[in-house]
Amino acid sequence: MAEAIKLFQYNTLGALMAGLYGGTLTIGELLEHGDLGIGTLDSIDGELIVLDGKAYQAKGSDGQPKVVELSDDVTVPYAAVVPHQAEVIFRQRFAMSAEELGKRIESYYDGVNLFRSIKIKGHFDKMHVRMIPKSAPDTKFAEVATHQPEYTRENLSGTIVGFWTPEMFHGVSVAGYHLHFISDDHTFGGHVIDFVIAEGTVEVGAVDQLDQRFPVQDRKYLFAKLNMDELKEDINKSE
Ligand SMILES: [Zn+2]
Repeated sequence: MAEAIKLFQYNTLGALMAGLYGGTLTIGELLEHGDLGIGTLDSIDGELIVLDGKAYQAKGSDGQPKVVELSDDVTVPYAAVVPHQAEVIFRQRFAMSAEELGKRIESYYDGVNLFRSIKIKGHFDKMHVRMIPKSAPDTKFAEVATHQPEYTRENLSGTIVGFWTPEMFHGVSVAGYHLHFISDDHTFGGHVIDFVIAEGTVEVGAVDQLDQRFPVQDRKYLFAKLNMDELKEDINKSE
């Protein structure tokens, strides 16, 4: 039997939403568990993109979108990576909206209760992203989310990476698609809000197991009182 593909998730989206923004895992450690993924940086300073085993930060807080490659010692409060292995690969030959492409991708799933890794390399007529701005701990995520810089670029090449999460894991992650983008020239990227693909190659990866890690030495996490109803609402609003 082939080796099980493990989705490595560090911390939960719920904890992040509750204001636990301190980085407690290094990029070096994170990359040992996968070569494709998403997340955010210490103090929620922008969006993390893991592509082909390298980690990048997309940020837009000083008025201009910017992408930098990250060194191993940078820390993250939340991230998810997988050793991406395409199970389904298809060519998208004509323009489609994000919603249409999402439905096409889902048509290849067996059932609705497994995570999937997603990689879409192609040319995009439009890419609309946002970058979470660096924030002090305990500022509510839903607050921060109301004033995130957003950017749209037209006619560019790049790669979308991320995950599709089953409904029952909403809170641990965000149900449905959570995708980040990085342009081929590494000058533009972020959390994907919307896009129109012109053409490209779509890879859908299988996930057999979830390896959920916790920041076990982080007192803030250990003693955080989470209001779950409020959290789920915040995730719906912000993601
Ligand atoms: Zn994101």
